[in-house]
Amino acid sequence: MSVLIVGTTALDSINTPKAKNPRLLGGSASHAALAASFFAPTKLVGVVGGDFPAKYLKLYASRGIDLTGLERVKDGQTFHWHGEYEVNMNNRRTLNTVLGVIENWSPKLPGEYERTPYVLLANIAPAIQLTVLEQMSKPKFVIADTMDLWLNVALADLLKLLKKVDCLVLNDSEARQLTEDDNVVSALAKIHKLGPRYVIIKKGEHGSLLSGPGGLFVAPAYPLKKVVDPTGAGDSFVGGLLGYVAAQRSGSVEKHLRRAMIHGAVVASFCCEGFGLSATLKATKATINARVRELEKLARF
Ligand code: AMP
Repeated sequence: MSVLIVGTTALDSINTPKAKNPRLLGGSASHAALAASFFAPTKLVGVVGGDFPAKYLKLYASRGIDLTGLERVKDGQTFHWHGEYEVNMNNRRTLNTVLGVIENWSPKLPGEYERTPYVLLANIAPAIQLTVLEQMSKPKFVIADTMDLWLNVALADLLKLLKKVDCLVLNDSEARQLTEDDNVVSALAKIHKLGPRYVIIKKGEHGSLLSGPGGLFVAPAYPLKKVVDPTGAGDSFVGGLLGYVAAQRSGSVEKHLRRAMIHGAVVASFCCEGFGLSATLKATKATINARVRELEKLARF
């Protein structure tokens, strides 16, 4: 079954201590859609300006990503994010964000999109995530991702959204901020009370935590010796996760979520090995499956 993904389709300028890479293809929806496309048919809902290179549109298409829902505003500017990492790549700061065409964007879904069973509201303003969700007809499973910015500037919209989604994905510091609880394990119950039946807390190189009707599950991260650029790892994790769930022919979402988190973690590990989408693009189903088997061995006891 297919996955619909809404989020940013961006040009990213990324500085690390070793290199500067201007105007790479990035954005939460780009990373998530590429990750999901390894497993399931993927529809991308986003907006780009006239400056968006045609080669990036070709790249999405070459992965079979459906672009009917990607709006193009000829005289507009594509969302641009400029970020910088410290030597410890867990620390990054935003140098500049140009909203461009995202600023006044109100997505209108192509008619045939409304029945897509799996929906990923990747990181973008919660008001935009709500607009998309309101146009969907009884989706089977909806995941929302978010970031600290929206907790700071759009908390009311985010709280409205949380009542309507099945699963919220956020990182550990965002979970602490949302609940004002320093302990992420006790924060989980507080997040469930806000709406979602499932909560996934990302902990970067330390893996992730799932809480849901089936209890708690701890997923490891794939141990990497070298991280080149972690931008988009979180988006790749959640895109891979939902793509894996959508690809299963039978059984409940609950049944597949744990393995889905491992697949998400593996796609995220590829993402970290190159700038932008470059390393994810080199991954294959075979290399993904090999890392899943490695993780299975590493985590068994
Ligand atoms: P991650 O590393 O998983 O947090 O995702 C980084 C991606 O999020 C980059 O490709 C950025 O283009 C995108 N991004 C940065 N800031 C924002 C924002 N305010 N809203 C949505 N996406 C963003």
